[in-house]
Amino acid sequence: MKIIVLGTAAAISTKERDNTSLCVLPNNDIPILIDCSGSIVHRLEKAKIEWHKIEEILITHGHIDHIYGIPSLIHHLWLRSMGKRNKPLRFYGPTSALERIKKSLSVYGLTEKPKMFPWEFHKISTLENDLVFSKKWGEVRSTPVLHGQEDTIAISFFENKSSKRFVYSSDTEPCVSLEEFASMAELLIHECAYLDEIERKGHSNIYQAVNIANKAKVKELVLIHFDWESLGRIDTAMNQVQPNFYGKVSIANDFDVFEVV
Ligand SMILES: [Zn+2]
Ligand SMILES: [Zn+2]
Repeated sequence: MKIIVLGTAAAISTKERDNTSLCVLPNNDIPILIDCSGSIVHRLEKAKIEWHKIEEILITHGHIDHIYGIPSLIHHLWLRSMGKRNKPLRFYGPTSALERIKKSLSVYGLTEKPKMFPWEFHKISTLENDLVFSKKWGEVRSTPVLHGQEDTIAISFFENKSSKRFVYSSDTEPCVSLEEFASMAELLIHECAYLDEIERKGHSNIYQAVNIANKAKVKELVLIHFDWESLGRIDTAMNQVQPNFYGKVSIANDFDVFEVV
């Protein structure tokens, strides 16, 4: 599978970094979005992804920087299909996030558009390592993580052919559920809101993210979701953590592509 990074900023985007969202291309199958922010179709076009084919969006939580692209994506899909799309768009996420999305679609009048295609909301449970859906190529699972008051999940993709896993932490402070969920993954994309050593509620700093990756024994760690004020410290922080991680560690930039094969 291929993972295409559509944005890498935390809540405040910058000239180089849009808010964090990802697109996963499983083996010869339809692209799946993880969160949906920024000028999403513009980003997908730039990444050469056939966005009009998207049928599934995994929502990690209901914070604005992870969901505000959804009304625009639906509007694009509706305009482009000219009323001919019958396939539903399926959202998977925690209840609170799905409720917020439902409200936003109504506020933007998308629920009243003529010949609008259907959409479905599928609640993701708060159980650890729970199956979200399975496909011919493999399966998607979720586990709850720790992000303040907001119900938030981490996501994993398992591919049958390679028997390899990719895990995305979403926004979280270090937690055992994620450590276990990411155990032995080929690739962990972990949030790294801060590049200093201060421990904060709801988010991870670079040292905490590397520590989780070490404990989970993942092969490759990619850091994402940077606070704009921390960005000046990237090089110094990377030099400090690199010797502490036995695997490969890197910083995600917008439009980076990672392959798990
Ligand atoms: Zn966020
Ligand atoms: Zn958040």
